[in-house]
Amino acid sequence: MITKSTSILLLYTGGTIGMIRKPETQSLENFDFESVLDFIPELKLLDCHIHTKSFDMPLDSSNMTPKHWICIAAIIEEAYSAFDGFVVLHGSDTMSYTASALSFMLENLSKPVVLTGSQLPIGDLRTDAKENVITAIQLAALQKNNQPIVKEVCLYFEYKLYRGNRTTKINADFFEAFTSPNYPALVESGVQIDVNFDALLKSYAAAPLIVHKNLDTNVALVKLFPGINPKVLEAIFNAENLKGVVLETYGSGNATSQAWFLNLLKKTIDRGVHIVNVTQCARGSVRMGNYETSSDLIEIGLISGGDITSEAALTKLMYMIGASINVTTFKTVFETAIRGELS
Ligand code: ASP
Repeated sequence: MITKSTSILLLYTGGTIGMIRKPETQSLENFDFESVLDFIPELKLLDCHIHTKSFDMPLDSSNMTPKHWICIAAIIEEAYSAFDGFVVLHGSDTMSYTASALSFMLENLSKPVVLTGSQLPIGDLRTDAKENVITAIQLAALQKNNQPIVKEVCLYFEYKLYRGNRTTKINADFFEAFTSPNYPALVESGVQIDVNFDALLKSYAAAPLIVHKNLDTNVALVKLFPGINPKVLEAIFNAENLKGVVLETYGSGNATSQAWFLNLLKKTIDRGVHIVNVTQCARGSVRMGNYETSSDLIEIGLISGGDITSEAALTKLMYMIGASINVTTFKTVFETAIRGELS
């Protein structure tokens, strides 16, 4: 149920949703937020108070950086007690990275943070923006016994609300731009709003919100492929200050058994760099030891990412390294779901 007393903070960071086409080149560029809102007069009909805020310089999400994630988290922190829920309008290109990062940064979250955007600008006749924004606000305002129903960082797109750190962008052309490969949708919006209560993250403790703003970007994301060049890989793994690597391996976490490769991984881990094994498959989980080609990786000390997405693995590394998690417990903490990011 949504009550009139529910208040939502709508934060505009940029993205296609608020862009217009330059007549000369037909390329999309940002324009001001107030004009964006003029395109959705329906917002006034919603049964909740909406307060709006915008980045001074809205950006295409390809230009998002951890500094912007910190800015979003700080805005939520400052407004946390004054609002019942938060909706973040964001470009779709890196929305899964931002949603994943925010999930780790916002510890003890007990209110909804819903990211959404669109594939077509809000001014386009066939835009998907209106439905996405209106329903995202309705979901952020959804309450039961005066308590928010959703208490986590989510992503709403094309009739589905997903756990943010479970999502990945899969389509540049169609409205159904995101999927949650290894976790069900939290809500499906059809004729009715169908909440999958069993899938929601439960928050038992009424602990205060803690906002982690220290993210370490000395990390890399490396995808293996047959014929990968030792020199190229060495250059990455020996990069100065490198502290963590997400390694996208084959199938259930398998990699080449060539000595140069295994030696390079071992030397890197011995140097104190954390290496997380994630699968480059669209769905499924890493199960090291299932094949001989992944047994060595256990011995060397790779961290299993299980069924985590690369986006969540990378941002979890940034968060955990930034939080100076103890070396002896790092692997265990990474392999444990702290925000519902892995099964
Ligand atoms: N390039 C745009 C962005 O991510 C795409 C979008 O919004 O869908 O900001």
